[in-house]
Amino acid sequence: MGRPLRDLRISVTDRCNLRCPYCMPREVFGADYQFIDRSELLTFEEITRVARIISAQGVRKIRLTGGEPLLRAGLERLVEMLAGIDGIDDIALTTNGTALAPLASSLADAGLDRVTVSLDALEEEVFRSMSDTRGPLARVLEGIDAAREAGLAPVKINMVVRRGVNDHCVVSMAEHFRGRAEVLRFIEYMDVGESNGWRLEQVVPAGEILAAIEQRWPLEALAASHEGEVASRWAYCDGLGEIGVIHSVTQPFCQGCVRARLSAEGRLYTCLFARRGHDLRALLRGGGNDSQIASRINQIWTARADRYSELRSLRQPPEAGDPGVDGAAASAQAARQAAGRVEMSYIGG
Ligand code: SF4
Repeated sequence: MGRPLRDLRISVTDRCNLRCPYCMPREVFGADYQFIDRSELLTFEEITRVARIISAQGVRKIRLTGGEPLLRAGLERLVEMLAGIDGIDDIALTTNGTALAPLASSLADAGLDRVTVSLDALEEEVFRSMSDTRGPLARVLEGIDAAREAGLAPVKINMVVRRGVNDHCVVSMAEHFRGRAEVLRFIEYMDVGESNGWRLEQVVPAGEILAAIEQRWPLEALAASHEGEVASRWAYCDGLGEIGVIHSVTQPFCQGCVRARLSAEGRLYTCLFARRGHDLRALLRGGGNDSQIASRINQIWTARADRYSELRSLRQPPEAGDPGVDGAAASAQAARQAAGRVEMSYIGG
């Protein structure tokens, strides 16, 4: 579809210390879940080699993800290695923030440019139900402050909105971050993977989220800040900052999707909703030289035709009476049963 390869999201672990039901439901990712064995994980040297090869093919931005990437020991060393690659001009990290405060400045010193923190509520009880842990909301807020102070700005805040769980917190989150340096983004709940039990009626459409905020503070649309930006941007008319909305379900953005994803064990994925990835580790550990790996990546990307979210919205008409969401969600139900999609925690959102 003529989309250039610009962004690489690198998952450095499939493990996480939270159990957000929309990503890693405890009943699936329980005590006996088989996470990737350490020996199967790409080493920092292997990750850097792939990043160096793929940057020669156009990748400019790298985002480190997980699971929870800060669970991978010595991540600063990887950041330093990636920061040394010509052509990579932006290194970002997506984290749940629980381990960010003590690491923010050393990550910045190593060459990290920006951080996105996943935070789904400010109310302790809602935070706990969205993360299914008795987790430390306070530590996440400390992490956000530490990231700002370390210059990892603008710190972006990602809030996944689920109807009946945290949708009543949309306005309070907006109020908290208005006028601050952080940029709050609302994410439509997505049918990622196979285990989150996604249902149509739990999606809060972008339009509804924006309408709730506009009741309090008028907004005006902003242009995208770069090619392939996933969030649509909205500024508060009174100048107190901006918000974003990531609307993969109701307004798919596959036409502008310039992202590839590398799993922690070296499989390259060309879509968040992919069913299979392409093994690069065998080449890395099997004596493949850089040009063989480069042509393999080229082969994978040039054959890419992924547009899952777009197809989701075209496939079937919605079930009668579905409020506010078009046919996308209904057909996704059917598609997901058939396909067996990769888990988001495995390729890092
Ligand atoms: S559904 Fe796939 S192709 Fe579409 S925007 Fe998401 S990752 Fe890109």
